[in-house]
Amino acid sequence: MAKEKQNQDKAESDITTHDHNPYDIVKGLIQESVKALGLDENVYHVLKKPMRVLEVSLPIRMDDGTIQNFTGFRSQHIDILGPTKGGIRFHPNVNVDEVKALSVWMSLKTAIVDIPFGGGKGGVIVDPENLSVSELETLSRTYIRKITPIIGPQKDIPAPDVNTSPEVMGWMIDEFDQLRGYNIPGMITGKPVIIGGSLGRLEATGRGVVFTIREAAKVLDMDLSKSTAALQGFGNVGSMTAKFLHELGVKIVAVTDARGGIYNEEGIDIPALLDFVKDGSNYASDFSDAESITNDKMFGLPVDILIPAAIENQVTKETAGNIQAKIVAEAANGPTTPDGDKILEEKGVFVIPDILCNAGGVTVSYFEWVQNTMNYYWKEKEVNEKLEEHMLFGFEKVLEMKNDKKCRMRDAAYMVGINHLVKAMEARGWIR
Ligand code: GLU
Repeated sequence: MAKEKQNQDKAESDITTHDHNPYDIVKGLIQESVKALGLDENVYHVLKKPMRVLEVSLPIRMDDGTIQNFTGFRSQHIDILGPTKGGIRFHPNVNVDEVKALSVWMSLKTAIVDIPFGGGKGGVIVDPENLSVSELETLSRTYIRKITPIIGPQKDIPAPDVNTSPEVMGWMIDEFDQLRGYNIPGMITGKPVIIGGSLGRLEATGRGVVFTIREAAKVLDMDLSKSTAALQGFGNVGSMTAKFLHELGVKIVAVTDARGGIYNEEGIDIPALLDFVKDGSNYASDFSDAESITNDKMFGLPVDILIPAAIENQVTKETAGNIQAKIVAEAANGPTTPDGDKILEEKGVFVIPDILCNAGGVTVSYFEWVQNTMNYYWKEKEVNEKLEEHMLFGFEKVLEMKNDKKCRMRDAAYMVGINHLVKAMEARGWIR
């Protein structure tokens, strides 16, 4: 979906706007939560801006000999709980406000699931589909070289995000290690396991999403083995979410991706679909054992669970009205606009907000960093058990806040995250 023009001068408190700038949206939500918690307005003024934002130029010699100069960013939101942490995305819609918003969300995420990290995020404005593998490798290595002065295992630790993979992390760590002259595995997470990645990291975000869906189903007294779901996005997060939902007996009837979508009323054969996309050469939307469906139609299907697992601004005032699901699980970051959110609230949909729902990725990234720091590696069972503990901790805290304040799950999640950050601000003497 095309992004609307950004308007950086807009009032910070206006969250009912139809402007879909994610940085404005997150600032508005923080301001509302600070007010609802009865906190000093200074908390908002501290949290509203990332502590550091770097823009870099990335001149790359393309295979045809020409030079293309790409633009990249890295935003570090706040480091009061620990080093900043968050992924790097390669996407044509990347812009500085998006990266800033994503870094703020990371701070809230880590605070909710009790991980001692702050929020960071990076991005490069590029459509990786248009690059050869060697151009992509050069771009990845150049980006990490350019942000080297501000990253490191005790400073800011990147990871995968939209369109970046363990392979890309492998190139990046290799570049960083070569610059520094020794191996520094804790400088990046989501690495291939052979060079210090954690078992269970690849599956972690999807596994975490499904833990939260399982908990939401308990709240709503829903039997997941009799439930249906529709899923937007079949990248790492979408595909892993599908895998674990399928294992719980949920019938997934529709999956869409950047090129189209598939629908099968009887339930899509998820193991076969996972196998179909496994080597990266096929799109989920080309899977033959299903009818085709558009994104818009998918949103309106009569399913129990809807999972946006792609990018921002998908559940909007245009799409939310048709949603019939009882649960919207935000596996993507920022998939719902404020006006879309309002419609979901009016319909009584149980929203599992992004900063809780998809926090499993950064949780296992933290475990990866811990293992790198100890240079001692855990079995996958241990990783998954610890992931479950953190996700349940976050879910319970947010649910408790929702019941206490009689508010939406999203507001409750912001309040839990902000409360946690406020404790660290107080401990450091930033606020009294
Ligand atoms: N990109 C993921 C996210 O948005 C994971 C970040 C990480 O592992 O640091 O949460």
